Amino acid sequence: MRKSAILFLIIVGALSCTKVPITGRRQVNLLPESDLMKMSLAEYNKFLAQHPLVPDTDPNTQLVKKVGKNVQIAVEKFMKGNAKYKKRIAGYKWIFNLTKDDKTINAWCMPGGKVMVYTGLLPVTQNETALAVVMGHEIAHAIARHGNERMSQQMALETGGNVLSIAVSGTSKETQDIFNISYGNVAGLGVLAYSRNHELEADKLGLVFMAMAGYDPHETVAFWQRMAKESKGAGLTILSTHPSDEKRIEEIKKFMPKALKYYKKPVTITPNP
Ligand SMILES: [Zn+2]
Repeated sequence: MRKSAILFLIIVGALSCTKVPITGRRQVNLLPESDLMKMSLAEYNKFLAQHPLVPDTDPNTQLVKKVGKNVQIAVEKFMKGNAKYKKRIAGYKWIFNLTKDDKTINAWCMPGGKVMVYTGLLPVTQNETALAVVMGHEIAHAIARHGNERMSQQMALETGGNVLSIAVSGTSKETQDIFNISYGNVAGLGVLAYSRNHELEADKLGLVFMAMAGYDPHETVAFWQRMAKESKGAGLTILSTHPSDEKRIEEIKKFMPKALKYYKKPVTITPNP
């Protein structure tokens, strides 16, 4: 790596670098998380206006909310019990919902904790533990602030580094110059791979989070094997940006011993509705 690129990373690091809980990966988040949460809430409300939810009285919705809440409680307990992570979930407001859409095999979580599951995913999850796999993974994206990181990268790319100039405003012209020159070097490195890396990181954190909530993380392998079958049959777009199934399952298996350290008290499982 060139000297300027190293300098760049040091400066950005000093300004805004944080570490992802558990994996310890360093990340750069340039946006205030509160801004991201505001934008996410607006997007979430737009989604609700256009997509019907399955009512709260439906057993499937109740299961989605039960599993979501179980994982949320475990994750919050862990985060609040750790001085380093306490502030990371400040302002998060978790909501777990099920949207009526049998054709889409998907789930997502917006920054700040708005989780949506599509009914099309339920034939693949098939049981409460696999639903916890999905919840763990989605909650992980929010805890790891992948949205902020991705947007920071995107904004940096689109503004040709201006966002980084803003980030260093107030510092000397020299620093700014190093920043601007170095930016080009760093922007070209691995930005496209981040999304895949985020997926793999969410898998790892998800294993830990479900285990903390009392769900057996071994189900994760079975779930992704079922997802692999689905994607072969239907050419799903949801999986097109994901890591290959083999790679994903291989990484999950590798991380399993670490996740099992967090798995203590099994949760009481509700039979599928
Ligand atoms: Zn994901």
